[in-house]
Amino acid sequence: AEEQLRQSQKMEAIGHLTGGIAHDFNNLLAATLSNLAMLEKQLPADPKMQRFLSTAMLAAERGAALTQRMLAFSRRQDLRPGSLDLHELIVGMTELMQRSIGPMVRIETDFPDDLPPVFADANQLELAILNLVVNARDAMADGGCIRISASALEMRNDPDLEPGGYVRIAVADEGRGMDAETLAKATEPFFTTKGVGEGTGLGLSMVQGLVAQSGGRLCLVSDVGKGTTAKIYLPAGAAGFAAREPLQMSSEVPLD
Ligand code: ADP
Repeated sequence: AEEQLRQSQKMEAIGHLTGGIAHDFNNLLAATLSNLAMLEKQLPADPKMQRFLSTAMLAAERGAALTQRMLAFSRRQDLRPGSLDLHELIVGMTELMQRSIGPMVRIETDFPDDLPPVFADANQLELAILNLVVNARDAMADGGCIRISASALEMRNDPDLEPGGYVRIAVADEGRGMDAETLAKATEPFFTTKGVGEGTGLGLSMVQGLVAQSGGRLCLVSDVGKGTTAKIYLPAGAAGFAAREPLQMSSEVPLD
């Protein structure tokens, strides 16, 4: 419990910091992009110059996408939880997922017909699942299959969960897996084994924060050389536990 408190205080501090930085960068990049767009209109049709310009715009757009992720991590957006049909949510984002992971990896889904709804924020949950799916892809350099499944279950003896009904969403890959040391650190903010410019190390800590805030938890199971399964537990039902003191990380920082 002490370790959890320490971790949540660390997350809160980092949330403040990244939120502030991301917000400022977002404004700077917006100004950069709009000025580049004006330049693009006025520039003569010289292919070489157009190429310089489009490279600059692409870099600025990637920067903007990254700051969006950092903003999502610092949770400046308020959660708007509601009753969600998970199967519908996953079907609705299949195209987005496939586009994000490319053609080498395919996605399989397995949902029971009688899955109860969960109570969570649809956009944030999509972002969380997308993060897990992208991590799964990154672990499978030679391609393979990502299996997304869900089941309903009762949780009675989990120290991190109120006893009650839950829905477990599992994202399983056949990738390289994690050794014990990596697994222990995987959810820490800024921990990444990916190269510079490839990983932010914020994905899993964001997923964990979001899920905890929704009254659930994230659980990672991994086998080196065999693969990883990320499981998200969310309270079942149309009203969940999400009304219980949400862990707001940057609530007192004004938006502008
Ligand atoms: P990032 O993806 O930017 O590195 P994450 O917080 O999402 O940040 O992940 C942290 C680290 O955990 C990754 O760099 C990787 O080493 C490990 N990891 C996460 N998901 C998986 C997975 N499905 N298979 C293997 N390793 C993983």
